[in-house]
Amino acid sequence: MKFVPDYHDISEAHSRIKPHAHKTPVFTSTTVNQLFNAEVYFKCENFQRMGAFKFRGAMNTLSQFSDEQKKAGVVAFSSGNHAQAIALAAKLLNIPATIVMPHDAPKAKIEGTKGYGGKIVFYDRYTEDNKAISRDLAEKHGLTLIPPYDHPHIIAGQGTVAKELFEEVGELDSLFVPLGGGGLLSGSALSAAHLSPKCQVFGVEPANGNDGQLSFRKGEIVTIDMPKTIADGAQTPHLGEYTFAIIRHLVKDILTATDEELVDTMYFLAERMKMVVEPTGCLGFAAARAMRVQLQGQRIGVILSGGNIDMSRYASLLGNKK
Ligand SMILES: *Cc1c(COP(=O)(O)O)cnc(C)c1O
Repeated sequence: MKFVPDYHDISEAHSRIKPHAHKTPVFTSTTVNQLFNAEVYFKCENFQRMGAFKFRGAMNTLSQFSDEQKKAGVVAFSSGNHAQAIALAAKLLNIPATIVMPHDAPKAKIEGTKGYGGKIVFYDRYTEDNKAISRDLAEKHGLTLIPPYDHPHIIAGQGTVAKELFEEVGELDSLFVPLGGGGLLSGSALSAAHLSPKCQVFGVEPANGNDGQLSFRKGEIVTIDMPKTIADGAQTPHLGEYTFAIIRHLVKDILTATDEELVDTMYFLAERMKMVVEPTGCLGFAAARAMRVQLQGQRIGVILSGGNIDMSRYASLLGNKK
């Protein structure tokens, strides 16, 4: 089957972003391997530039802008990692960036985006539509609007995470991937299909926002209300057209994790592996832990997708863990 993008695009994206993106480490833990009675490989995108894999998709996309697009600039709407990724990639490529953000976005994210030189346009998340504002800005000033996941160049960039993992550790039996709009999952599934065709790829989303699971079962994109969950990077009401077309054919299943399981997993990763992983970044490992009995004897990949969380929030989530 032919997908857009395909593995060739991921391979080209990798050459394009290599000079700028970190090849993140793959960690193992004897404790985890004993607990699972399996071999578990963690691909640590919490150590990627700006703290999440989204830098890969942003860099791959912006570096393919025409000279005209580069001169006019890019616009993105997001309160999270996509905004920071676009701002940093734009800065490295000397492209002016405008980010549309709610004025009550976490201070760290506003400061992060400003620090990378992004121009912020604030809006009210309860009364205004960020997409409409971004489209207006794009039209008025000739900016190129880059969505957070449903774009072939974004997907190709995100696919380099799993590509690096398979190239480093070889073929795997299962791979667990956090799921929001599906850029990371669709890219991972394309890389798995090419580099480890027998690998079962699982997407994992918040239990309160299981639109991906519903879509997967139904065979068409299902839209839900904006989910309430601590996994803010996966607060998406629906998958994308490009991402779903790939996910429905190449993914084994879509699983969920509760907020409580995410806090528990965040705690485990801090205590046992000394890593700060944001709640969304814990989704894959949370699901793997829940089904570890079925995974005995396997070679398992887990993508830890990001580590951006306010320290006060991190402390209170871990401090209040039951
Ligand atoms: C955006 C994000 C996700 C979800 O990625 P999608 O491509 O939207 O599925 C997962 N984890 C982190 C840390 C993110 O920032």
